[in-house]
Amino acid sequence: MTEWKNGVAKISLPTPFPVGDVNVYIIKGDALTLIDTGLQTEQGKEALLRGLGELGLRLDDIEQVVLTHHHPDHAGGLGLFSVDVPVYGHPNNQRFLLMSDEFIGEHERFYLDFARKLGVPEEYKKMVAQIRRSAKFVSPRVLRSGLVEGDTVPAHDDWKVIETPGHAQSHISFYREKDGVMIGGDHLLEKISPNPLMEPPIIPGEDRPKPLLQYNDSLNKWLGIPISMLYTGHGNEVFDVPGLIKKQRERQHLRAMNVKKILEENALTGFEVCKRLFPAVYEKELGLTLSETVGQLDYLENLGEIKTEEKSGMIIYSVQQ
Ligand SMILES: [Zn+2]
Repeated sequence: MTEWKNGVAKISLPTPFPVGDVNVYIIKGDALTLIDTGLQTEQGKEALLRGLGELGLRLDDIEQVVLTHHHPDHAGGLGLFSVDVPVYGHPNNQRFLLMSDEFIGEHERFYLDFARKLGVPEEYKKMVAQIRRSAKFVSPRVLRSGLVEGDTVPAHDDWKVIETPGHAQSHISFYREKDGVMIGGDHLLEKISPNPLMEPPIIPGEDRPKPLLQYNDSLNKWLGIPISMLYTGHGNEVFDVPGLIKKQRERQHLRAMNVKKILEENALTGFEVCKRLFPAVYEKELGLTLSETVGQLDYLENLGEIKTEEKSGMIIYSVQQ
């Protein structure tokens, strides 16, 4: 049963993705605001209407939509709303919401180059087509305005915008100081460790982002904020945020140290490390598993545990002696 709790109502919507249901939130203020949309599927729409109905609301009572980030399970449902309904989010959402041919081309060039540097063989390079697959989930929208660190959510002065890049370059979260409630998108989840996904640099041609390092910085940022309760993008609320962050960071450090062990035997390309880490799924989920692998490698390199050297256009990773 959907109900209000201190001005926030949570609705869980189904997705066809392995992650399962996604949580969206309605907040009350000078406007009625939906935070994230779920996907634009029949089941997603039905569940959203049911949740709204239990609050005595209809879809067109929603006056504005705010995004935690651009991933399809969070932003794919924008098409359920008229283009007159203002959409807000971090400016880095915009390129994924418009999905212009120019951006698709830039995205493909970035991934081809990235794959080449990681030593991905020719036959796997079709993975760069993935962006076209996710493009079909998106309804083109232009942000009414961008939300950045220090802003408040329009029509909700009590909700502060906190930039939390890592899981996505567009990721932000919303914090209500008076009671310490955070609406955190996919930044920190109760049961899943969010995969910081590789994205092309915001400015074409610049160095690629290092999403796992950004993610860790964003976790540290949250350690400096007194959070009484976290509303998550998937799964249950979290009450002990510092405890969960500590657990997550320990788990991640152990994973990285296992990657280091692999490199102790041989110097390897990113693709070779990926194959050893994910032998069963790397072919089917190359984009995801490469992202995860490169995250661990960036992490180890940042700690000074491993080093890189370029050989015939490929990056070779080896243990720092
Ligand atoms: Zn996400």
